[in-house]
Amino acid sequence: MKVQFLGAHNCESATTRLVSILIDDVLALDAGGLTSSLPIKAQLDLKAVLLTHHHYDHIRDVPALGMNALFYETSVPVYATLAVRDALATHWLNGTIYPSFLEKPPESPRIKFTVVEPNKAFIIAGYKILPVPVSHTAPTVGYQVASPDGKTLFYTGDTGPGLAEAWPKVSPQVLITEVAAPNRYEEFGRRMLHLTPSLLKEELLAFQKLKGYLPPVFLVHMNPRQEKEIESEVKQVSNELGTSVSLAYEGLIVQI
Ligand SMILES: [Zn+2]
Ligand SMILES: [Zn+2]
Repeated sequence: MKVQFLGAHNCESATTRLVSILIDDVLALDAGGLTSSLPIKAQLDLKAVLLTHHHYDHIRDVPALGMNALFYETSVPVYATLAVRDALATHWLNGTIYPSFLEKPPESPRIKFTVVEPNKAFIIAGYKILPVPVSHTAPTVGYQVASPDGKTLFYTGDTGPGLAEAWPKVSPQVLITEVAAPNRYEEFGRRMLHLTPSLLKEELLAFQKLKGYLPPVFLVHMNPRQEKEIESEVKQVSNELGTSVSLAYEGLIVQI
């Protein structure tokens, strides 16, 4: 399984993109930096764009994908919970700012949306996908993705403390989760439901206690302004736990 980090931050600039992860060139996890990273053909070849929740930094490329599908006379398959569909239909794809890509044209909408149910697995192109609820300020599901050749990753999406409820449902060989800010923002993390390195450590200890192992961990959603501080604190967590915990970056490719 080839995991390619297209976007790994919570700010967009010439050097950072919002979160998007590409798996084997066919599945995309979140759509923060898809259209700005991928040639048109690669965008239109995607078998699924899986969205974790409806916050801007995770859905921003959905209208752009719809526009591209329109101009190339095709459609783009998007998967997410009903909450995400409702938010897109109400606020963006409503015929005011963007066309109603969820419904038009009626015979084959530009955004071919499939509603996923939390905790209910489904198959796309031979990949087994399990949406797993996590704790965040909008309804959010992480995705466990198991490839046809038996490799498994779990991407939490945005999450605060409380992953202990998700851990019994997943058994990843690689974990991708978020750290949005350094340890001095721990109170913010608890309130706004994001992780800091210290909060991440508690979640990983709970995983280890339950599962008896710790997978390599890759982090996304960093604030570039505080990245150096986050990096040194994450290094400490990695040393304390004796497992690889590292910051992902735009262009990083990981083979599982
Ligand atoms: Zn969010
Ligand atoms: Zn976010």
